[in-house]
Amino acid sequence: MTKSKIKHEEKAWSVQNSISLYGIDRWGERYFSINHSGNIDVSPHGKEGIKLDLKVFLDELKGRNLKPPLLIRFDDILEDRMRHLHQAFENAINNYGYDNKYKGVFPIKCNQQRHVVEEIVSIGQKWHFGLEAGSKAELLIALSLINDPEAFLICNGYKDMQYIETAILARKLGRQPVVVIEQSDEVERIIKSSKKLGAAPLIGIRAKLSSQSSGRWGDSIGEKAKFGLSIPEILRAVKQLKSAGLLEELSLLHFHIGSQINDIGVLKNALQEASQIYVELHRLGAPMGQLDVGGGLGVDYDGSRTATPASTNYSLQNYANDVVATIQECCHSNKIKVPTLISESGRALCSHFSILIFNILGTSSVEEEIPTKTNNECLSVKNLRTTLKGIEDYSKNNSIETSKLQESWNDAVKFKEDALAAFRLGFIDLTERAIAEQLTKSCAKKLANLLTNHPIIPEEVQVLNAELSETYYANISIFRSAPDTWAINQLFPIMPIHRLDEKPSQLGHFADLTCDSDGKLAQFIHNGKVKPLLELHTLHPNDDYLIGMFLSGAYQEVMGNLHNLFGSINAVNIRLINNGKYKLDHVVRGNTKSDVLLAMEHDSEQLLERLRMASEIGIQKGNLKIKDAQNLIEHIETSLRKSTYLQE
Ligand SMILES: *Cc1c(COP(=O)(O)O)cnc(C)c1O
Repeated sequence: MTKSKIKHEEKAWSVQNSISLYGIDRWGERYFSINHSGNIDVSPHGKEGIKLDLKVFLDELKGRNLKPPLLIRFDDILEDRMRHLHQAFENAINNYGYDNKYKGVFPIKCNQQRHVVEEIVSIGQKWHFGLEAGSKAELLIALSLINDPEAFLICNGYKDMQYIETAILARKLGRQPVVVIEQSDEVERIIKSSKKLGAAPLIGIRAKLSSQSSGRWGDSIGEKAKFGLSIPEILRAVKQLKSAGLLEELSLLHFHIGSQINDIGVLKNALQEASQIYVELHRLGAPMGQLDVGGGLGVDYDGSRTATPASTNYSLQNYANDVVATIQECCHSNKIKVPTLISESGRALCSHFSILIFNILGTSSVEEEIPTKTNNECLSVKNLRTTLKGIEDYSKNNSIETSKLQESWNDAVKFKEDALAAFRLGFIDLTERAIAEQLTKSCAKKLANLLTNHPIIPEEVQVLNAELSETYYANISIFRSAPDTWAINQLFPIMPIHRLDEKPSQLGHFADLTCDSDGKLAQFIHNGKVKPLLELHTLHPNDDYLIGMFLSGAYQEVMGNLHNLFGSINAVNIRLINNGKYKLDHVVRGNTKSDVLLAMEHDSEQLLERLRMASEIGIQKGNLKIKDAQNLIEHIETSLRKSTYLQE
């Protein structure tokens, strides 16, 4: 570490320090920044546009009895993301002189919440933006929400006769559903349904590409992929469709190489391969007309702009340019008309607009104040006191060797172990054990301070930091609200949303409300890498400490589960009107305890009835007063109607 770091440490903490510490200027895009009061500002139309102070907003929500945990959805950001996506394709189409259009669809599986899909459909109207369904239930959503005959309705996923017939009938209704063949046996079902109804659906084929992919969803591509047809299967499907007289409905080629493509190189290869297949299908006599490049457009969760799992090495514009240029090049050299471009971007569209806010209930801090020396202290406590004294003496010294500090730390650890052993054997009591633990912590703290001011930051600081870290108890269930952090180790930017003009003097991680040791957030973004501890502030008694998990609008809501019966949290859709002024479009109340109990087939009435009977018996036996029984039942009745989270 350089000298400038030392000077830096000595200066007072400023908002600028928080910006670089949490990297908000890197992952926050145009939407998130820190204001002079040290709070996060949300600016849906970029830094110059209208703003909302997130902390002030949350305080106002509290006045409306909407308390954290909360999911805040900024519909303006959703709209901005949509505009950007279309702008990027429009730029690319203009720059390359591409002679066709871009017409995207939203993959419903990314966020099926009614208000979200409705908002997307309504914002997307001006671009004839469509929807992608991956199941029969999602198809029902798509059919009921889209009534624009020019918008595509892409039908993916496993398809039975009923699914296919619904799509055919929807075409008669004037919609534009494309049934995408994902499995070979669907061809027969399409032919059968078309004969039965005397009408055909628009048909697409999903290709299994051989291009090598990387990243978490790399398996979605290649010969072992779950979906799509291999080249021999594609040829067979074309033959089958031809002999059934359905080849003229084959208009779309689709591929999807998995979510969160980190490396643009992977996409380029896939695009080249798919373009060739597109040209070949045209040659085989299919009219074609659309190429659907699937989803996978990534989100830069850590702002590092690298081809690492939590980031991407390309921008939205790079993506659009590559799609347009690669497909155009292939079509031009084969002298066929370029297709209408479709993409199914879910993550890139709806990650930014949701922020998950949770409050901290307390921390695991060890008391700082060390009790004064008494006469009969045990040896290990005495030794620890001497070690601490030694470290304090070093701090008066100007130049210290790190080896000396290391030695002191080794001593402290050894003496603490001695104290624990003595406790197990019954030689010391709880009070002495507590003193030993407090002294060890003090040693760590003093050493860490000395070492951060040392010209070279030694490895040991890491160890000391871990020793000094605290658990912050979060009023949330990660299994319900941030399931990907647990299931696939996904990283999201997580940081306090206020007090950012104050130095965060503590390192910590979060433990959630569930009784599951996996219920924690202990992986944080670190510029292309991962760190186990986050810089946090010490709690002020009686003041909220609010943490935001950002970029969390994609996949988290539906993948969440009811582990320990923690249900959904309150969600608020908001639109900004002016600086600091807003309107709440929707407030969706989270699950009550009664809701989550019912999800597991426990009926609240029955549950209450059983308790009523039990209290009658208690009253008869004289163990319970009538008033207490009434109190208990009232408590439970109210509780059933309330949130599953802690709310004072
Ligand atoms: C999941 C999925 C998408 C969405 O992918 P994102 O990475 O969220 O853009 C698109 N198409 C298909 C077929 C999918 O399965």
